[in-house]
Amino acid sequence: LFAGEVDFLKGVVAMSGLPPDDRIEVCFAGRSNVGKSSLINAITGRKALARASNTPGRTQEINYFTLGDERYLVDLPGYGYANAPVKVVEKWQALLKQYLSGRASLRRAFVLVDSRHGIKPVDEEIMTLLDKSAVTFQVVLTKADKIKPSQYEGLLKQVRGKLAKHPAAYPELVLTSSDKGDGIATLRSIIAGIA
Ligand code: GDP
Repeated sequence: LFAGEVDFLKGVVAMSGLPPDDRIEVCFAGRSNVGKSSLINAITGRKALARASNTPGRTQEINYFTLGDERYLVDLPGYGYANAPVKVVEKWQALLKQYLSGRASLRRAFVLVDSRHGIKPVDEEIMTLLDKSAVTFQVVLTKADKIKPSQYEGLLKQVRGKLAKHPAAYPELVLTSSDKGDGIATLRSIIAGIA
């Protein structure tokens, strides 16, 4: 699906460190522990690819992965850490704002939301930032295996209700489980189809 190499490229701490913007780029954002590393590993088919970049000290970096020769997958640091120092949060928010508003090759953000929790206020903050930056975003529900089918309807209702307030939201949701493999092929083909 992604012709060429799928691999970790680099971690970036400042706009000056970004690779040239000559590839189609999608980014992944989500609260810490939402299952972002597991999902990236499932999409790339490379066990522990994202985990390797998730070691302490790298967690505030924007991590670049090559998805073949034409695309980048960008792993944004998880947000919503309970005990993150204010200085660290501020620095990260500044970089995030610069990245989202200044990256011409960024086509879509995938905002990961835990199926058990739905959209939280901290998710809405990033969605508002995406609205302001005019970056289309699509919600990916993670850990779908952790909820009962009878809970899907309530979850989708909560998510759709929140998304209605965000002009940059893409209406189609993707329900995934990295553990069971649900939705992974769908997400891959969505990314491969972004021009
Ligand atoms: P990150 O902090 O967003 O990168 O989250 P991780 O990928 O490290 O996952 C956080 C925790 O959730 C880990 O214990 C994972 O094993 C678990 N997890 C991730 N994805 C799934 C999933 O699809 N199903 C289940 N049941 N657990 C998951």
